[in-house]
Amino acid sequence: MPPPPIRYACEHCSQSFLELEALRKHRFEQHPVRQPALLLRGKPVGALTQVLMTPLGPADVLVEDATACLLNGQPIPPARLGEQLATMRHEFADVVLSNQGATTRCQLDFRVADEAHLAGVEAAFLRLARDR
Ligand SMILES: [Zn+2]
Repeated sequence: MPPPPIRYACEHCSQSFLELEALRKHRFEQHPVRQPALLLRGKPVGALTQVLMTPLGPADVLVEDATACLLNGQPIPPARLGEQLATMRHEFADVVLSNQGATTRCQLDFRVADEAHLAGVEAAFLRLARDR
């Protein structure tokens, strides 16, 4: 009698497979793990630090497929991330989104020019123009 064949068991359900490739395929098709995503104004934030020159509104922020969120190391509900980010002007936000199987990290660098600063730049411009 040949020994019973090795079977590859799925860790998510009771099925098992003769080939690793078959298990991989099953896992991919039956238990897809979606990567959490952070979208700002409809665009997903990628691996690169995103610089923000204008303030975000709470509605500009969308979190997808995340059950947990860390903002600068502090746990907050994913649904509240928008209102937190909307308060940021000159700071760095390290956002970690996670679900059961995946984690996404996003870094946002807020460099929002305040009105006084903008007014100053404008005044300097005008002075420069006048002095010429
Ligand atoms: Zn399975």
